[in-house]
Amino acid sequence: MTTTTICAISTPAGSGGIAVARISGPEAIEIVSRVWQGKDLHVITSHTAHLGQIIDPDNGRQLDSALLTYFKGPRSFTGEDVIELSVHGSPWIQRELILLLIRQGATMAEHGEFTRRAMLNGKLDAAEAEAIADMIAANSRTAQRIALSHLSGQYSAELNRLRDSLIELASLMELELDFSEEDVEFADRSRLLNLATEINTKVSALTASFASGRAIKEGIKVVIAGSTNAGKSTILNALLGQDKAIVSNIHGTTRDIIEDTTELNGLLIRFIDTAGLRDTIDPIEQIGIDRARQAIANADIVLHIIDPANPQLLDLPTGVKTIAVINKADLQLPAPTLAASYTASIAISALNSADIQALADLITSQAMPMEIQPQQTVTNARHYHHLLEAQQATARIIDALHTTTPTDFIAQDLRHILHHISSITTPITTPTLLTTIFQKFCIGK
Ligand code: GDP
Repeated sequence: MTTTTICAISTPAGSGGIAVARISGPEAIEIVSRVWQGKDLHVITSHTAHLGQIIDPDNGRQLDSALLTYFKGPRSFTGEDVIELSVHGSPWIQRELILLLIRQGATMAEHGEFTRRAMLNGKLDAAEAEAIADMIAANSRTAQRIALSHLSGQYSAELNRLRDSLIELASLMELELDFSEEDVEFADRSRLLNLATEINTKVSALTASFASGRAIKEGIKVVIAGSTNAGKSTILNALLGQDKAIVSNIHGTTRDIIEDTTELNGLLIRFIDTAGLRDTIDPIEQIGIDRARQAIANADIVLHIIDPANPQLLDLPTGVKTIAVINKADLQLPAPTLAASYTASIAISALNSADIQALADLITSQAMPMEIQPQQTVTNARHYHHLLEAQQATARIIDALHTTTPTDFIAQDLRHILHHISSITTPITTPTLLTTIFQKFCIGK
């Protein structure tokens, strides 16, 4: 049960047109009333906005004029009485306002405390609360689409459906247990097997989605590699739409790794331009080349830029998608012969913007070959951990159903799965886990 009333600035630190202070808790009306000159807050209707002044009651000085918005609990973000004060966004005014509210009895909010209270008051489940952080961090159309679907409960609904199937399986098992002394398999084992297989397929699809989910959130690592002068920097600049890397016809110009992100077709792409791979006696260039090889090994996609005038082989890394990009098509040189191990290939001229768009399309289609289903895409490592546990346990159940394993062993695994699936959405109350999750939030969230 919450008794304190918390306050914080919810807008980013620094100056801005306005800053918003949020106050939540049972004393919200009382505390703000002490510094408010305007309509009597005890009689205003919920979900209305009012213009007034912020006055320090200790000296009668006006701090600012403010727009006050009132949300009466439980119809508010936190489920408690919430007041938001929009003031002019000077860092000094923001600080003074918070100090004023604290002097009147409010407590400074901790990281993510508003969201935490919303969760504990049943306004959001755990996955939805975590989606708020994802929404704030969303840096591409796809990341935003996934965060929004998680925030709006579609992902939780997907998990709840899974939990319902598990409960059905568990109750069939319990039936079998009840009748075990009579030596009858009350629950038809083939029906159990079908249900377990169906659950396993769903859980596996969710765990498999984490690779894409994480790449979408963190950016897809695309390494640009190839020999010097092939046009790597020109291509990077064209894809980024800006001059980031130095373009020159002097071999070995790019010595270190240049990294930048951009959004291509709704996906965040983390481009890594590497030093041209060639034998060198220059120790600095050699360090760059070693780093390039390292980046290639850790890439999601490698673009091997090939100069048809000087085609060079690349030791293609295994398990990394590699696209052969034959550049300088405008020079109309004979096409080089390509190794069979490329995932895809394209001929372009870095000087032609339509070719650059075609390359961008190829990169994004390789990065996300399938249409993303936001409600079935896992982006959170905590959820991934629970799903992995559930996946392993469903596989064990399927094995067990093929043999004569006693039902109570299977039932134990089922409880394990139910626990893990439920943990994704049920409000978290363990203090340490609460801290880890909400620490990543800003103070005013
Ligand atoms: P890097 O060493 O691989 O990064 O290559 P750069 O991007 O610095 O390019 C080397 C040279 O090739 C520069 O003079 C570029 O202007 C030129 N270049 C790059 N792409 C093309 C292209 O598509 N066509 C032609 N004709 N020249 C290009």
